[in-house]
Amino acid sequence: MRAAVFHAPHAPLALEEAPEPRCGERDILIQVAACGLCHSDLHYIDHGVKTFKAPPLILGHEASGVVVEVGAAARDFKVGDRVLIPPIIPCNTCRSCRSGRANVCERLQMFGNDVDGAFAQYVAAPAAECFHLPEEIPLVEASVISDAVTTPFHGVRNRARVQAGETVAIFGCGGVGLNAVQVAALLGAIVIAVDISPEKLEWARRFGAVEAINPRDVPDVPRAIRRLTGGGADVAVEAIGRPQTQEQAFSSLRGGGRLLLMGFSAESMALNAGRTTYREIEVIGTLGCRPVDFPAVIELVRRGKLQVVPLVTGRFALSEINAGLDALRSGQGIRNVVLPQER
Ligand SMILES: [Zn+2]
Ligand SMILES: [Zn+2]
Repeated sequence: MRAAVFHAPHAPLALEEAPEPRCGERDILIQVAACGLCHSDLHYIDHGVKTFKAPPLILGHEASGVVVEVGAAARDFKVGDRVLIPPIIPCNTCRSCRSGRANVCERLQMFGNDVDGAFAQYVAAPAAECFHLPEEIPLVEASVISDAVTTPFHGVRNRARVQAGETVAIFGCGGVGLNAVQVAALLGAIVIAVDISPEKLEWARRFGAVEAINPRDVPDVPRAIRRLTGGGADVAVEAIGRPQTQEQAFSSLRGGGRLLLMGFSAESMALNAGRTTYREIEVIGTLGCRPVDFPAVIELVRRGKLQVVPLVTGRFALSEINAGLDALRSGQGIRNVVLPQER
Protein backbone atom coordinates (compact mmCIF):
# COMPACT_ATOMS: atom_id res chain seq x y z
CA MET A 1 0.00 0.00 0.00
CA ARG A 2 1.04 3.62 -0.39
CA ALA A 3 2.03 5.39 2.83
CA ALA A 4 3.69 8.60 4.00
CA VAL A 5 6.47 7.54 6.35
CA PHE A 6 8.23 9.56 9.05
CA HIS A 7 11.94 8.71 9.18
CA ALA A 8 13.51 11.60 11.10
CA PRO A 9 12.66 15.10 12.27
CA HIS A 10 13.32 18.14 10.07
CA ALA A 11 12.69 16.15 6.88
CA PRO A 12 9.62 15.75 4.67
CA LEU A 13 7.53 12.59 5.02
CA ALA A 14 8.62 9.94 2.52
CA LEU A 15 6.11 8.45 0.10
CA GLU A 16 6.73 4.73 0.09
CA GLU A 17 5.26 1.32 -0.55
CA ALA A 18 4.61 -0.22 2.86
CA PRO A 19 3.22 -3.63 3.78
CA GLU A 20 -0.53 -3.66 4.40
CA PRO A 21 -1.21 -3.82 8.16
CA ARG A 22 -2.20 -7.23 9.52
CA CYS A 23 -5.81 -7.45 10.67
CA GLY A 24 -5.58 -9.08 14.12
CA GLU A 25 -8.29 -11.32 15.59
CA ARG A 26 -10.06 -8.44 17.32
CA ASP A 27 -9.23 -5.84 14.67
CA ILE A 28 -10.91 -4.36 11.67
CA LEU A 29 -8.88 -3.37 8.62
CA ILE A 30 -9.95 0.03 7.35
CA GLN A 31 -9.47 1.61 3.95
CA VAL A 32 -8.69 5.18 4.98
CA ALA A 33 -10.94 7.81 3.37
CA ALA A 34 -9.36 10.83 5.06
CA CYS A 35 -6.93 11.64 7.84
CA GLY A 36 -6.53 15.08 9.39
CA LEU A 37 -3.19 16.91 9.51
CA CYS A 38 -2.63 18.01 13.09
CA HIS A 39 -0.17 20.12 15.06
CA SER A 40 0.82 16.93 16.88
CA ASP A 41 2.33 15.74 13.60
CA LEU A 42 4.36 18.94 13.39
CA HIS A 43 5.64 18.40 16.93
CA TYR A 44 7.40 15.24 15.71
CA ILE A 45 8.43 16.57 12.30
CA ASP A 46 9.47 20.14 13.15
CA HIS A 47 10.13 20.29 16.88
CA GLY A 48 11.88 16.98 17.56
CA VAL A 49 9.23 15.69 20.01
CA LYS A 50 9.97 11.97 20.10
CA THR A 51 7.40 9.45 18.88
CA PHE A 52 6.89 6.51 21.25
CA LYS A 53 7.66 4.02 18.49
CA ALA A 54 10.99 4.93 16.96
CA PRO A 55 10.82 5.80 13.24
CA PRO A 56 10.22 4.64 10.58
CA LEU A 57 6.60 5.28 11.53
CA ILE A 58 3.43 6.10 9.62
CA LEU A 59 1.92 9.22 11.25
CA GLY A 60 -1.77 10.23 11.23
CA HIS A 61 -4.28 9.88 14.06
CA GLU A 62 -7.54 11.53 12.89
CA ALA A 63 -9.05 9.12 10.41
CA SER A 64 -12.29 7.91 8.90
CA GLY A 65 -12.77 5.10 6.40
CA VAL A 66 -14.54 1.95 5.32
CA VAL A 67 -14.12 -1.55 6.80
CA VAL A 68 -12.53 -3.95 4.31
CA GLU A 69 -11.72 -6.89 6.62
CA VAL A 70 -13.04 -8.07 9.98
CA GLY A 71 -10.98 -10.18 12.42
CA ALA A 72 -12.44 -13.53 13.56
CA ALA A 73 -13.17 -12.25 17.08
CA ALA A 74 -14.06 -8.65 16.15
CA ARG A 75 -17.63 -7.70 16.93
CA ASP A 76 -20.12 -5.06 15.74
CA PHE A 77 -18.58 -4.35 12.34
CA LYS A 78 -18.94 -5.84 8.88
CA VAL A 79 -17.19 -5.21 5.57
CA GLY A 80 -18.46 -1.98 4.02
CA ASP A 81 -19.27 -0.22 7.31
CA ARG A 82 -18.29 3.44 7.59
CA VAL A 83 -16.08 3.96 10.60
CA LEU A 84 -14.46 6.66 12.72
CA ILE A 85 -11.11 5.77 14.28
CA PRO A 86 -10.28 7.55 17.56
CA PRO A 87 -6.72 8.90 18.00
CA ILE A 88 -5.91 6.60 20.92
CA ILE A 89 -6.45 3.04 22.05
CA PRO A 90 -6.81 2.83 25.85
CA CYS A 91 -5.76 -0.29 27.81
CA ASN A 92 -9.13 -0.43 29.62
CA THR A 93 -7.55 -1.92 32.77
CA CYS A 94 -5.35 0.77 34.35
CA ARG A 95 -6.56 2.97 37.20
CA SER A 96 -7.40 5.87 34.84
CA CYS A 97 -9.39 3.63 32.51
CA ARG A 98 -11.23 1.98 35.40
CA SER A 99 -12.15 5.35 36.86
CA GLY A 100 -13.75 6.43 33.59
CA ARG A 101 -10.81 8.47 32.32
CA ALA A 102 -9.58 6.34 29.45
CA ASN A 103 -8.41 9.49 27.64
CA VAL A 104 -5.56 9.71 30.17
CA CYS A 105 -4.93 5.95 30.16
CA GLU A 106 -1.56 5.11 31.70
CA ARG A 107 -0.76 2.73 28.85
CA LEU A 108 -2.53 4.44 25.98
CA GLN A 109 -1.46 3.73 22.44
CA MET A 110 -1.80 6.52 19.96
CA PHE A 111 -2.06 6.06 16.21
CA GLY A 112 0.86 7.66 14.41
CA ASN A 113 2.88 7.70 17.63
CA ASP A 114 2.93 4.30 19.39
CA VAL A 115 1.59 2.39 16.40
CA ASP A 116 1.40 3.08 12.67
CA GLY A 117 -1.24 5.64 11.80
CA ALA A 118 -3.47 6.56 8.89
CA PHE A 119 -1.35 8.55 6.44
CA ALA A 120 -1.66 5.35 4.43
CA GLN A 121 -4.20 3.51 2.31
CA TYR A 122 -5.03 1.08 5.13
CA VAL A 123 -4.91 1.01 8.90
CA ALA A 124 -5.83 -1.73 11.40
CA ALA A 125 -7.64 -0.84 14.63
CA PRO A 126 -9.30 -2.77 17.47
CA ALA A 127 -13.00 -3.02 16.54
CA ALA A 128 -14.07 -2.36 20.15
CA GLU A 129 -12.46 1.11 20.05
CA CYS A 130 -13.95 2.25 16.71
CA PHE A 131 -17.25 4.04 16.09
CA HIS A 132 -19.93 3.66 13.43
CA LEU A 133 -20.50 6.71 11.23
CA PRO A 134 -24.07 7.35 10.09
CA GLU A 135 -24.78 7.88 6.37
CA GLU A 136 -25.71 11.54 6.94
CA ILE A 137 -22.13 12.53 7.81
CA PRO A 138 -19.87 12.73 4.74
CA LEU A 139 -16.97 10.32 5.18
CA VAL A 140 -14.09 12.70 4.43
CA GLU A 141 -15.34 15.47 6.71
CA ALA A 142 -16.13 12.93 9.43
CA SER A 143 -12.39 12.46 10.02
CA VAL A 144 -12.37 15.87 11.73
CA ILE A 145 -14.57 14.49 14.53
CA SER A 146 -11.81 12.12 15.68
CA ASP A 147 -9.67 14.78 17.36
CA ALA A 148 -10.49 18.39 16.35
CA VAL A 149 -14.14 18.16 17.50
CA THR A 150 -14.02 15.60 20.34
CA THR A 151 -11.02 17.22 22.10
CA PRO A 152 -12.79 20.59 22.62
CA PHE A 153 -16.05 18.78 23.41
CA HIS A 154 -14.39 17.02 26.34
CA GLY A 155 -12.40 20.10 27.35
CA VAL A 156 -15.21 22.64 27.26
CA ARG A 157 -18.05 20.43 28.49
CA ASN A 158 -16.46 17.91 30.87
CA ARG A 159 -13.35 19.67 32.11
CA ALA A 160 -14.25 23.39 32.12
CA ARG A 161 -17.92 22.53 32.87
CA VAL A 162 -19.21 25.42 30.76
CA GLN A 163 -22.80 26.37 31.62
CA ALA A 164 -25.45 28.27 29.66
CA GLY A 165 -25.05 32.01 30.13
CA GLU A 166 -21.38 31.90 31.12
CA THR A 167 -18.82 33.99 29.26
CA VAL A 168 -16.06 31.96 27.61
CA ALA A 169 -12.96 33.55 26.07
CA ILE A 170 -11.21 31.32 23.55
CA PHE A 171 -7.59 32.11 22.73
CA GLY A 172 -6.61 30.70 19.32
CA CYS A 173 -9.20 29.89 16.67
CA GLY A 174 -7.39 27.22 14.65
CA GLY A 175 -8.87 23.75 14.07
CA VAL A 176 -9.25 22.96 17.78
CA GLY A 177 -10.06 26.50 19.00
CA LEU A 178 -12.85 27.01 16.45
CA ASN A 179 -14.46 23.82 17.64
CA ALA A 180 -14.17 25.04 21.22
CA VAL A 181 -16.13 28.06 19.96
CA GLN A 182 -18.89 25.92 18.47
CA VAL A 183 -19.11 23.57 21.47
CA ALA A 184 -19.24 26.49 23.94
CA ALA A 185 -21.90 28.22 21.82
CA LEU A 186 -23.90 24.98 21.65
CA LEU A 187 -23.80 24.79 25.46
CA GLY A 188 -25.31 28.28 25.61
CA ALA A 189 -22.20 30.24 26.52
CA ILE A 190 -21.43 33.80 25.43
CA VAL A 191 -18.26 33.30 23.42
CA ILE A 192 -15.43 35.79 22.92
CA ALA A 193 -12.90 34.71 20.26
CA VAL A 194 -9.29 35.87 20.27
CA ASP A 195 -6.96 35.38 17.28
CA ILE A 196 -4.45 37.40 15.26
CA SER A 197 -6.06 36.29 11.98
CA PRO A 198 -9.08 38.36 10.84
CA GLU A 199 -10.15 35.37 8.71
CA LYS A 200 -10.19 33.04 11.72
CA LEU A 201 -12.12 35.60 13.76
CA GLU A 202 -14.68 35.74 10.96
CA TRP A 203 -15.02 31.95 11.09
CA ALA A 204 -15.33 32.14 14.87
CA ARG A 205 -18.29 34.50 14.45
CA ARG A 206 -19.84 32.06 11.99
CA PHE A 207 -19.42 29.27 14.55
CA GLY A 208 -21.16 31.25 17.29
CA ALA A 209 -18.74 33.79 18.81
CA VAL A 210 -20.49 37.07 19.68
CA GLU A 211 -17.29 39.08 20.18
CA ALA A 212 -13.98 38.87 18.36
CA ILE A 213 -10.71 40.40 19.54
CA ASN A 214 -7.57 40.73 17.44
CA PRO A 215 -4.50 41.26 19.67
CA ARG A 216 -2.88 43.15 16.76
CA ASP A 217 -5.52 45.86 17.21
CA VAL A 218 -6.05 45.54 20.94
CA PRO A 219 -2.83 45.89 22.93
CA ASP A 220 -4.20 44.65 26.29
CA VAL A 221 -6.46 41.68 25.54
CA PRO A 222 -7.15 40.62 29.17
CA ARG A 223 -8.22 44.18 29.99
CA ALA A 224 -10.50 44.28 26.93
CA ILE A 225 -12.11 41.00 28.04
CA ARG A 226 -12.54 42.21 31.62
CA ARG A 227 -14.26 45.31 30.24
CA LEU A 228 -16.51 43.40 27.85
CA THR A 229 -17.60 41.00 30.57
CA GLY A 230 -17.82 43.43 33.48
CA GLY A 231 -15.01 41.88 35.50
CA GLY A 232 -13.66 38.90 33.60
CA ALA A 233 -14.65 35.74 31.75
CA ASP A 234 -16.04 32.74 33.63
CA VAL A 235 -13.86 30.45 31.52
CA ALA A 236 -10.76 31.09 29.41
CA VAL A 237 -9.67 28.41 26.95
CA GLU A 238 -6.08 28.46 25.71
CA ALA A 239 -6.00 26.50 22.45
CA ILE A 240 -2.55 27.48 21.17
CA GLY A 241 0.03 26.18 23.63
CA ARG A 242 2.11 29.31 24.27
CA PRO A 243 3.10 30.54 27.74
CA GLN A 244 2.31 34.13 26.77
CA THR A 245 -1.29 33.42 25.73
CA GLN A 246 -1.73 31.08 28.71
CA GLU A 247 -0.90 34.02 30.97
CA GLN A 248 -3.24 36.31 29.02
CA ALA A 249 -6.04 33.77 29.34
CA PHE A 250 -5.39 33.56 33.10
CA SER A 251 -5.53 37.36 33.43
CA SER A 252 -8.85 37.50 31.57
CA LEU A 253 -10.70 35.59 34.29
CA ARG A 254 -13.06 36.86 36.94
CA GLY A 255 -12.75 35.68 40.53
CA GLY A 256 -13.74 32.00 40.60
CA GLY A 257 -12.95 31.64 36.91
CA ARG A 258 -11.57 28.53 35.22
CA LEU A 259 -8.52 28.41 32.96
CA LEU A 260 -8.61 25.49 30.52
CA LEU A 261 -5.23 24.52 29.05
CA MET A 262 -6.01 22.75 25.79
CA GLY A 263 -3.05 23.73 23.57
CA PHE A 264 0.05 21.60 24.10
CA SER A 265 3.25 23.28 25.23
CA ALA A 266 6.40 21.68 26.61
CA GLU A 267 7.35 25.00 28.26
CA SER A 268 6.52 26.21 31.77
CA MET A 269 4.02 29.00 32.27
CA ALA A 270 4.29 31.69 34.94
CA LEU A 271 1.34 31.61 37.28
CA ASN A 272 0.69 34.12 40.03
CA ALA A 273 -0.03 31.84 42.98
CA GLY A 274 -1.39 34.70 45.08
CA ARG A 275 -3.96 35.66 42.49
CA THR A 276 -4.89 32.03 41.98
CA THR A 277 -5.49 31.71 45.72
CA TYR A 278 -7.20 35.03 46.38
CA ARG A 279 -9.46 34.79 43.35
CA GLU A 280 -10.01 31.02 43.58
CA ILE A 281 -8.96 30.50 39.98
CA GLU A 282 -9.10 26.92 38.75
CA VAL A 283 -6.36 25.78 36.37
CA ILE A 284 -7.56 22.77 34.40
CA GLY A 285 -5.75 20.46 32.00
CA THR A 286 -7.51 18.54 29.26
CA LEU A 287 -6.43 15.81 26.87
CA GLY A 288 -8.36 14.24 24.02
CA CYS A 289 -11.79 12.83 24.74
CA ARG A 290 -13.22 9.89 26.65
CA PRO A 291 -14.45 7.08 24.38
CA VAL A 292 -17.84 7.26 26.12
CA ASP A 293 -18.41 10.75 24.65
CA PHE A 294 -17.74 9.86 21.00
CA PRO A 295 -21.27 8.59 20.19
CA ALA A 296 -22.78 11.82 21.58
CA VAL A 297 -20.45 13.95 19.45
CA ILE A 298 -21.23 11.88 16.34
CA GLU A 299 -24.96 12.29 17.03
CA LEU A 300 -24.58 16.08 17.49
CA VAL A 301 -22.83 16.21 14.11
CA ARG A 302 -25.49 14.00 12.48
CA ARG A 303 -28.22 16.29 13.82
CA GLY A 304 -26.40 19.38 12.54
CA LYS A 305 -25.86 20.81 16.02
CA LEU A 306 -22.09 20.68 15.47
CA GLN A 307 -20.75 21.36 11.99
CA VAL A 308 -17.90 19.51 10.32
CA VAL A 309 -18.34 20.14 6.59
CA PRO A 310 -17.14 23.79 6.65
CA LEU A 311 -14.16 22.78 8.79
CA VAL A 312 -12.41 20.94 5.95
CA THR A 313 -10.80 23.74 3.97
CA GLY A 314 -7.89 21.84 2.43
CA ARG A 315 -7.76 18.41 0.76
CA PHE A 316 -4.48 16.83 -0.27
CA ALA A 317 -3.72 13.61 -2.13
CA LEU A 318 -1.24 11.37 -0.30
CA SER A 319 1.56 12.51 -2.65
CA GLU A 320 0.80 16.12 -1.65
CA ILE A 321 1.01 15.49 2.08
CA ASN A 322 4.10 17.66 2.58
CA ALA A 323 2.28 20.59 0.92
CA GLY A 324 -0.59 19.92 3.33
CA LEU A 325 1.83 20.10 6.27
CA ASP A 326 3.13 23.41 4.88
CA ALA A 327 -0.44 24.74 4.82
CA LEU A 328 -0.77 23.73 8.48
CA ARG A 329 2.59 25.40 9.33
CA SER A 330 1.47 28.66 7.76
CA GLY A 331 -1.88 28.54 9.56
CA GLN A 332 -3.75 28.28 6.26
CA GLY A 333 -7.36 27.10 6.45
CA ILE A 334 -9.22 25.46 9.33
CA ARG A 335 -8.55 21.76 8.88
CA ASN A 336 -6.45 20.18 6.18
CA VAL A 337 -7.00 16.51 5.43
CA VAL A 338 -5.11 13.90 3.45
CA LEU A 339 -7.00 11.58 1.10
CA PRO A 340 -4.81 8.44 1.02
CA GLN A 341 -6.75 6.80 -1.85
CA GLU A 342 -5.78 9.67 -4.14
CA ARG A 343 -2.30 9.59 -5.62
ZN1 LIG B 1 -4.65 15.63 16.31
ZN1 LIG C 1 -5.66 2.40 30.67
